[in-house]
Amino acid sequence: MTKLHLTDLLPAELSDYVTSLGEPKYRAGQIFAAIHGRRLTSFDEMTDLPRDLRAQLSDQTTISTLRLESRYLSSDGTRRYLFKTHDNLPVETVFIPEERRDTICFSSQSGCPLQCTFCLTAQLGLLRNLTSGEIVEQIICALNDAYGAGVETPRGTNLVGMGAGEPFLNFEALIKAVRIMKEPAGLHIVPNRITVSTAGVAPKIRELASTEDRPHLAISLAAPNDELRSELMPINKKWPIAELMAACKDFQASLKRGERFTFEYVMLSGVNDSDDHARQLAGLINRHGLRAKINLIPHNPAEPLPYQPSSLERVEAFRAILDAAGIDNFVRRPRGRDILAACGQLAARSDVGQPVLIPGQ
Ligand code: SAH
Repeated sequence: MTKLHLTDLLPAELSDYVTSLGEPKYRAGQIFAAIHGRRLTSFDEMTDLPRDLRAQLSDQTTISTLRLESRYLSSDGTRRYLFKTHDNLPVETVFIPEERRDTICFSSQSGCPLQCTFCLTAQLGLLRNLTSGEIVEQIICALNDAYGAGVETPRGTNLVGMGAGEPFLNFEALIKAVRIMKEPAGLHIVPNRITVSTAGVAPKIRELASTEDRPHLAISLAAPNDELRSELMPINKKWPIAELMAACKDFQASLKRGERFTFEYVMLSGVNDSDDHARQLAGLINRHGLRAKINLIPHNPAEPLPYQPSSLERVEAFRAILDAAGIDNFVRRPRGRDILAACGQLAARSDVGQPVLIPGQ
C-alpha cells in the first residue's frame, strides 16, 4: 500500500501531516472527526473540507483499506465479518448485539502463531500483524454495518480483543489503536470499555500494568497445571504457569478500585473439566492471592478440532467447586456458533451457511 492510511494516525500525527500540506491545524480536527466520529469512508462526504484539499487527500491517502469479503448472520443476531486486507489476508470481526450494549470482538493479527490445540485460528498460522489502522477500521466497519455511516450508535460499545491473533505479540499497534479509539471527537470508546485477552505473554502483562489508560486484562488459562497446559497451549513452555502467576500478581497491583482481571477457561469434555482440575484451579488462584474471576467457556466445536464441550452437569459441578473456594465464576454464553463466530472459531472459513445480505443495505 503506497498511500498513507489516515485511520492509523493519532490526532497529533494527523495534525503533523495536515500542516505539512500547508493547511491550518484545525483541518486535522475536522478530518479526525469525519473518520472516527462520523465514520465516513470517503473524502467526497467530507463537505466541510475545501474541494482541492479533498482531491489532494484522496490522491495521497486512504481511509478504508479493509475490503468486506463476506458477512454471516447468526440466528442469535451475531454478525461475523470476513475482510481482506490490501495484501489480501483475512481479518475477522464479530459484532454481538446485547440488550444494553453491543460488543465488538476484533482481531489483532491475521491468523495466529500460537498453536492452541482447541482453537481453529491456530490452523491458519501467523499471516501478519495488523496495523493500528486495521484494528480501528474493524470497529468502524462493524458499527457502520449495524447502524450506518454518519449515524450515532444507539447503544454503547464494548470491545474485546479476543478475535484472531495474540494481541500481546502485536502490543504497540494494539495500544496505539486503543489511544485512537478513546478520543472524544472520534469513536470515544474509552479503555475502560475494552478487554484484551492474552494466551499468557508474561512480559507484556507487566508492560500493560504500567501503561497509562490501559484496557482490562483477560488471560486464557485452559489448564491448572503445566503438564496439561503445555499440551493444550504450547506457549506455556515459554512462560509456564509459575511465571504467568507472578506476572498476574504484579499486574494486580495496577488494578483500580473495583477492577478485577479475568481468567478464561475453555471447558473440554474429559480433558480439563474434572473435579480435580477444578480443585487445582481454585488452589492456583488462591495460593497466589489473586483477585480474579473465572470465565468458563464451553468449548465451541469445529471440524477438525478433536474436542467436545463439557456437559452442563459437568460445568455446574466444576463451578460448585470454584464457588466453595470463594472464586467468582461465570459461564460464557456461546454466541454465533452456527456461523463459526464464537470463541476459537475464527479461521476465515467461508464454508458455513450462506453469506447473508442484511436487509436494507
Ligand atoms: N490469543 C488470545 C486472544 C484470543 S481470545 C488468547 O488466547 O487469549 C480467544 C479465547 O477463546 C481464548 O480465551 C481461548 O481460550 C478461547 N477459545 C479458543 N478456542 C476455543 C474454542 N474452540 N471454544 C471455546 N473457546 C475457545
